[in-house]
Amino acid sequence: MIHAGIGPTHLQNVLAECNLPSISENTLRKKEKELSKQIGEVANTSCRTAQEEEKAQSTNNNVEASFDGSWQKRGSGWNYNSNTESGKVLSFELRSKACKTCEYHQSRKETVPDHDCHLNWHGSSKAMEADMAVTMAHRLKDDGCEIKVVHADNDASTTARLQVEFDNISKKDDQNHVKKGISTSLHNISKSYRELQKDETRQYILRCFMYAIKGGETEDDIKCNLERIVPHVFGSHEKCEDVDWCTYNTNPENFKYKSLPNGKPLTSDGLKEELNSLVRKMISRSESITDLGSTQANESFNQLVSTLWDPVPFKIAVAAVLQKNEDMLFVKVSYEAASLSPGELTMSIASARDKKKGKKKDKKTVERIQDHQNSEKRKRILIPEKIGKEGKTYENSLELSIQKTLTRVDIPPP
Ligand SMILES: [Zn+2]
Ligand SMILES: [Zn+2]
Repeated sequence: MIHAGIGPTHLQNVLAECNLPSISENTLRKKEKELSKQIGEVANTSCRTAQEEEKAQSTNNNVEASFDGSWQKRGSGWNYNSNTESGKVLSFELRSKACKTCEYHQSRKETVPDHDCHLNWHGSSKAMEADMAVTMAHRLKDDGCEIKVVHADNDASTTARLQVEFDNISKKDDQNHVKKGISTSLHNISKSYRELQKDETRQYILRCFMYAIKGGETEDDIKCNLERIVPHVFGSHEKCEDVDWCTYNTNPENFKYKSLPNGKPLTSDGLKEELNSLVRKMISRSESITDLGSTQANESFNQLVSTLWDPVPFKIAVAAVLQKNEDMLFVKVSYEAASLSPGELTMSIASARDKKKGKKKDKKTVERIQDHQNSEKRKRILIPEKIGKEGKTYENSLELSIQKTLTRVDIPPP
């Protein structure tokens, strides 16, 4: 049930539909409880193995990790993922602001009996994220896999806390968040300037920014690329000489902007000043936008989490970690951890699945190696996620889930 991400009712339905004898919920829950400790240990072992793999692949032990959180209503967990070859989860944490058992008894004004309580957070949701990031970073350090570079969204409080506790940790922004930030700025500027009111114009300028940022290997490259944008869209192309995406210098007479109104440059002085100040703002952040990481692997983990269900958030976390790191092998390892031998059918399905996954991975690896050769070595790890739980509320909070691949996203020229 943990592996499939279904509850007792689902399982009973499947059995009933196959005309097989049912198993009572009590029995299922009892067995699940017996095994969940071992499965939890398997998840931790799996993370430690992933950490070793990550260290082996990092240059000078400079482990980078990416990190993102997504919300489920009442529970919250995080994972640190490796984003090198494996995209495996390096660590995970869970914070929960609610416990079903506590709530049940409190609502009936009864004394809450002794139970396996999931409630472990009383602070604000914002502080929860920072707390989990720091806890995991400490644990990874204790396990000998210290994180040196964090790729995360722009949550300042989490970064600030990480930097207070680890003086040598550096933070890189996440591509999607940078893009969203620029897009919002452009939208705000467009409220005062008609020239920017067309979606197409804003999209074009956004593409220019992202291309400038992603197209630079060093801070200087990025600075140079960014400084080219405003003159280019306002019709002076002296700085465009070295780039092949602007054709003005090869054919000045016939040059037309494909995405600006009437193919003409922008003209408003006020708008120019606003865009220049946006460029200056990005240049001031050039350190953290160099070699932009991506939290996509975290998002894909979030997606996985959102497909699982269990009233106990810890089990969702463990199942998602194991599915991500071990896939079907999870079942075998869990059997062994519980001193049981897996059945023949289980194993044949598991190995068929692994083979299929292996083939996919080979293809991905080839693509990645090519990508590396093109754009230089880079390692990223992903960080945290929050995991939610609790039945219906959980379903209501699937907002996080856009499945994304782990491969790098190339930005086309503007
Ligand atoms: Zn409780
Ligand atoms: Zn140009």
